[in-house]
Amino acid sequence: MNDLEIFLPCGFTCKYQDLIKSKSRSLCMVCKTHYLYVDECLNMPRNKLILKQSEFDAKYEKLNQVLTDVDKTKIKTEMTINNDFDLMKNEIDIRREELKIQIDNYYFTLLNDLEAKRNLALDEMNKKISELNTFTINKEPSELEPLEKTKYLHENLQRIQNLLNSNEKYLDSVNKFNFKFEQPKFNMNDVFGKISTNKVSLHKLKSDTDLIIEELKEIKKGLKRSFESHILYDDDDDDEDDDEDDFILKNKNLKYEDILNDSDYYY
Ligand SMILES: [Zn+2]
Repeated sequence: MNDLEIFLPCGFTCKYQDLIKSKSRSLCMVCKTHYLYVDECLNMPRNKLILKQSEFDAKYEKLNQVLTDVDKTKIKTEMTINNDFDLMKNEIDIRREELKIQIDNYYFTLLNDLEAKRNLALDEMNKKISELNTFTINKEPSELEPLEKTKYLHENLQRIQNLLNSNEKYLDSVNKFNFKFEQPKFNMNDVFGKISTNKVSLHKLKSDTDLIIEELKEIKKGLKRSFESHILYDDDDDDEDDDEDDFILKNKNLKYEDILNDSDYYY
């Protein structure tokens, strides 16, 4: 910008930075034959074109840089997403294997516990049964005389009743013994874990790009208006919103880009 060649009213040129350093009204630094008004000089159509062209080129270059950054960011973001996916999948696989090992270990613990409970129940049952049948009763001893037999039956009647009571009690109690597998309800998220994402905003980059595009459009509009009002374009239609790149200048079979590419063309 500072090195831009600015045209003076006398036809000579100077650097932009030299012009803006001078006072608003001063003797021409080149020919020294007239006074120089900085604002008027900068508002000369040719100089406005040069300045707008410079501003446009700078913005255009910045836009290209940002668009390149967008492409690079897209590639980098894709790589990051895919890398994160691979890492997460690996962690999930490891978690899965860990849980499978823990489930297997717990299964065998439960199985051992179940076997211990079964053995305890069987031991209790066998112990009770062994206590119940500590003696046998001969139903009808044949060698006894009738009176002795009557006496025998009478003596053993109470023993039979006691045995009957204890065995019936056992039958009642054995029915109360059962196993139960308690299965608590659980949320797999709490056991296995879940995936969460922490989104880092990339909108700022997008906003910068949009901003530069808008600025470029404004610069183009200003450049177009400069030509329309001063030199080339005599259309009465003051449609300032027309920012198409390829409009044709009246009476000159040239496109807008030609002007941008060669600012000296009309001088
Ligand atoms: Zn001069």
